Amino acid sequence: MVDMKTEPVNRQYLLAKRPAGALQESDFSWTESPTPQPRLGEALVRSLYLSLDPANRGWINDVPTYRPPVGLGEPMAGFVIGQVVASNRDDLAVGDMVEGDGGWQDFAVHGPDSRVYKLPPGDDLVARMSVRGVTGLTAYWGLLDIAAPKAGETVLVSAAAGAVGSIVGQIAKIKGCHVVGIAGTDEKCQWIVDELGFDSAINYKKENVLKALGQHCPRGIDVYFDNVGGDILQAALFRMNQGGRMVCCGVVSQYDTATPAPGPHGLPGLLVVRRLRMEGFIVMDYDNRREQADAELAGWVADGSLKYKVDIIDGLEHAPKALIGLLHGENTGKRMIRVSGDARA
Ligand code: NDP
Repeated sequence: MVDMKTEPVNRQYLLAKRPAGALQESDFSWTESPTPQPRLGEALVRSLYLSLDPANRGWINDVPTYRPPVGLGEPMAGFVIGQVVASNRDDLAVGDMVEGDGGWQDFAVHGPDSRVYKLPPGDDLVARMSVRGVTGLTAYWGLLDIAAPKAGETVLVSAAAGAVGSIVGQIAKIKGCHVVGIAGTDEKCQWIVDELGFDSAINYKKENVLKALGQHCPRGIDVYFDNVGGDILQAALFRMNQGGRMVCCGVVSQYDTATPAPGPHGLPGLLVVRRLRMEGFIVMDYDNRREQADAELAGWVADGSLKYKVDIIDGLEHAPKALIGLLHGENTGKRMIRVSGDARA
């Protein structure tokens, strides 16, 4: 546990400027200031693990998403698992592990309106940051609630070796589907087939995706779990079967550019003639059903049918570079920053 007398410094990354195209490290500025003290009704939380998410890039444009944009000069927003180190809140005690929007900093003050969730004692924090947390829940609800795949159907997933995609494909296999993944390197393609049990994989940087889909999905696509948008969404759309479901989870091909690819073409015509459904969601929509998903995900992890990989980078100082790398496909599985070394559940 942190000694507030000897560690008074709060290291932070602030948003210095809004990127004009691809994200640069210089879009953030590093600062060190005294650690804030919690007032009545507030708790001070020390960051242990910081999640890096492609959506972080969208939060710093001057456009509201499902949250307000990060303001210039404000700490960069980010999902954090941390430990309560001082508390004037009735519901949080020193030593509790919590998750919530802690930002790119060592310490965050959480008042009564802050969305923080207390984690069970003894929780595996790395699993909670990946397969048992936002990543796993996104895969679970997007696939099972929105697409509801049936055994024997063909499920296609993009960014398939990433955090969410790698879980989506495995859940689809658990449900008895034929699963094809799309990823950006041969190593990633090999990993999802050999280790995770996908039926096949397409390297979108080497192959013509539309043509490859014809070979890998000979019966067409019933469910497309879209993490990327752009050209891959376009190709998938043309191969969808009648009654198919397209789950719009994210658009990683479009976050880090000032000139996103136009399209897709064929809308709404293809939706009409093939009776397709295309639906977006945000994982928070399912907050009140979290326990149900968590129990099932935990069961699959325990019985070995659901594997997960994490890509942990040590040190808050590496956060900008690590986010840029994530957007360029450096990661396999869930990328996160270990902010502090002394995590104790
Ligand atoms: P990932 O771990 O999948 O990392 C992003 C991956 O995207 C990279 O590794 C890279 O892999 C791939 N990628 C980057 N650029 C492109 C491109 N131009 N075309 C195709 N693939 C590309 O991230 P997450 O699993 O955290 O997130 C996946 C998606 O899910 C994102 O769109 C994210 O915004 C979304 N999401 C949505 C949520 C919701 O509530 N709706 C919640 C959480 C995440 P490669 O080497 O294969 O290119």
